[in-house]
Amino acid sequence: MADILEIYKQAKNRLILLDYDGTLVDFTPVPEDAVPSIELLYILRRIASTPNTKLIIISGRNQNDIENFVGELPIDIIAEHGAMLKKQGKWQKQNIDISAWKEPVLAVLNETSSSCPGSFVEEKTFSLAWHYRNAETGYEHARKLINTLENINLFYNFKILDGNKVVEIKSIEIGKGKATKYLVEKKNYDFILSVGDDKTDEEMFEFLVTHPEAITIKVGEGNTMAKYLLENVDNVIKMLKRLL
Ligand SMILES: [Mg+2]
Repeated sequence: MADILEIYKQAKNRLILLDYDGTLVDFTPVPEDAVPSIELLYILRRIASTPNTKLIIISGRNQNDIENFVGELPIDIIAEHGAMLKKQGKWQKQNIDISAWKEPVLAVLNETSSSCPGSFVEEKTFSLAWHYRNAETGYEHARKLINTLENINLFYNFKILDGNKVVEIKSIEIGKGKATKYLVEKKNYDFILSVGDDKTDEEMFEFLVTHPEAITIKVGEGNTMAKYLLENVDNVIKMLKRLL
């Protein structure tokens, strides 16, 4: 941490990429309940207003969800893993067509959802997700679902993400890796900090391997391409506080 702080202080152009769920806030049984604390909003606002520092929330959530949580902050936001970008207060969407696979995938997700109590389907603009945080047999159903989706995918070309109590299906054209590439290549940053907890964040860490100066941090357990580990959300907040 002392080394990171030293690099942070000396940097002239900083980019901070933060995932939201499982990184800045703990998971909640109902996703809508994962509201940011006043303390977190204060910390993010302070960092965002530090000169030469660009803070971006990079989330898989849909635009409305993430806007409700952190939309009041003067920051850019990436939603749906990169399909939507809020830049200088305005939302822009990428031109992506998922109509080829949306219906067949949705049918499989709905079927899984009705046979697995406690789970539900989320339809986003450019992706679909099946959540099973509150489902007793969720993990088993998720294995079966992924297998079915892989078979369907022989005819299409979508991306299946086996996330934290969620299975997500999205266009291969979108992802946090591509979004990170776009952001990083826009400016010559001499400090890049990227923090995330889930599979989708690995795309971000993987891209940043090409930027050896980047500080990548994985939150929680599991295999990762990130350089550092933090145990939980509390530790992420503590680290961010030290940047103030
Ligand atoms: Mg996350």
